Amino acid sequence: MKYVDEYRDDRVAKKIVDEIRRTVTRPWVLMEVCGGQTHSIVRYGLDYLLPPEVELVHGPGCPVCVTPLDMIDRAHAIARRPDVIFCSFGDMLRVPGSDGDLFRVKAEGAKVQVVYSPLDCLKIARANPDKKVVFFAIGFETTAPANAMSVWQAKALGLKNFSLLVSHVMVPPSMTGILQSPLNRVQGFLGPGHVCAVMGYREYEPIAARYRVPIVITGFEPLDLLQGTLMTIRQLETGRAEIENQYARAITRDGNIPAQKMIARVFEIADRSWRGIGIIPKSGYKLSYEFRDHDADRIFEVGSIRTKEPEICISGQILRGLKKPGQCPAFGTLCTPQTPLGATMVSAEGACAAYYTYGRHLRATGDLVEQIAAAV
Ligand code: SF4
Repeated sequence: MKYVDEYRDDRVAKKIVDEIRRTVTRPWVLMEVCGGQTHSIVRYGLDYLLPPEVELVHGPGCPVCVTPLDMIDRAHAIARRPDVIFCSFGDMLRVPGSDGDLFRVKAEGAKVQVVYSPLDCLKIARANPDKKVVFFAIGFETTAPANAMSVWQAKALGLKNFSLLVSHVMVPPSMTGILQSPLNRVQGFLGPGHVCAVMGYREYEPIAARYRVPIVITGFEPLDLLQGTLMTIRQLETGRAEIENQYARAITRDGNIPAQKMIARVFEIADRSWRGIGIIPKSGYKLSYEFRDHDADRIFEVGSIRTKEPEICISGQILRGLKKPGQCPAFGTLCTPQTPLGATMVSAEGACAAYYTYGRHLRATGDLVEQIAAAV
C-alpha cells in the first residue's frame, strides 16, 4: 500500500474484523499503549467494530497527559522569572497547572515562546545573550533524541544560557508496572509504533517472555490497529507470547541507532513521577552530570511544589487499563477539554479527551444524533 487512504479502506477493515470474529473463542483484554492509537481507535469507532469478547483498554502513552502537575507548576514558576525566555511545544501551553496555564503566564507578561524544535531554542539563546532560554523537554523516547541533540549542541557551542527542564518518561517500565499490578487486566499489548521507530523492539522481548504476554508493535491507521488486534488475538488463542511487528513499514528490531546513541550520550535513567500513576522506578531520563550546567531544575532551584489532583478523577485507573472514561462521574460534565480536571483530559491524545471529542459523552445521556446536532 502506498497512500494513507488505503489504510482506511472499510472493505479491508470488514475482512479483518470478520477474521477476528472467526478467531476469538473467549474474552481477552488488550491495551493500546500510545495516545495516538487511542485517538484513532475512538475516532474510527474501531472498538465498536470488534466482537464483544475483545475489549480494548487505553494505556499510558500520551506524553502530555503523564507530565506531572508539579512539573507543570515548576515550568510556570521558571517562566515567570524576568530573566527567562521559556520555550515549549504548543500543546503544553494549554495544559493547566495548579494556577492556570502557560497562556495565562504569558498574558501576565512572561516571555513564553512556542517552538517547533528544541534546536530553535539555540537560535533564540544566541540572539538573547542577556536572557536564560529554557526548553520544556517532555515526552517519551520519541522526543528525547532531538532534546538531547539540543543540549549536546549547546555545550559544543558554549551556549551557557540554554537549559532543559526535563520530564522524560519511557514506555517499557510503564508496561512492566501495569503487568506487575495485582489488579492488572491486560493480556496483550498493541505496542507503541512511534516509540519503537526510535528504540526498536528488542527491549520489549524480555517483557513478553517474563510476563507471558504478546506484544504486537502496531501503527496508527485503522487497518494497522485492526491487524495488530488480530495478530494479538491469534497469539492469545494459540498460547503464544511473542513480539510481532505489524508496523514493519516503519519499525525495525534495532530502531534508530544514532538516535539511541544521542539519548545515551546526554541522559541517564532516573525514577520519574507519572501524572495519575505516581513514581515508577527507573522510568525516565534526567540530564547526566556532564550536562548539569544545562539542567533547568538545577539552575533555578524552584524547590518542592505541593500539588493535589481532584479526588473525583480516575485517570490513574484509566491509564492502567482498569477503567474507561465513561466510568468517571465527572466525564463530560465537570470535566471537559475546556475544563480538564485530570491527566487524561488535558491533551487531545488523552483517552478522556478522545472520548469527548468523538461524542461519547453524549451517548450516555440521550439520543446521540440529536445531541451532536445541537452541539455543532
Ligand atoms: S473525565 Fe476528567 S476527572 Fe474523569 S478521569 Fe477523565 S480526566 Fe479525570
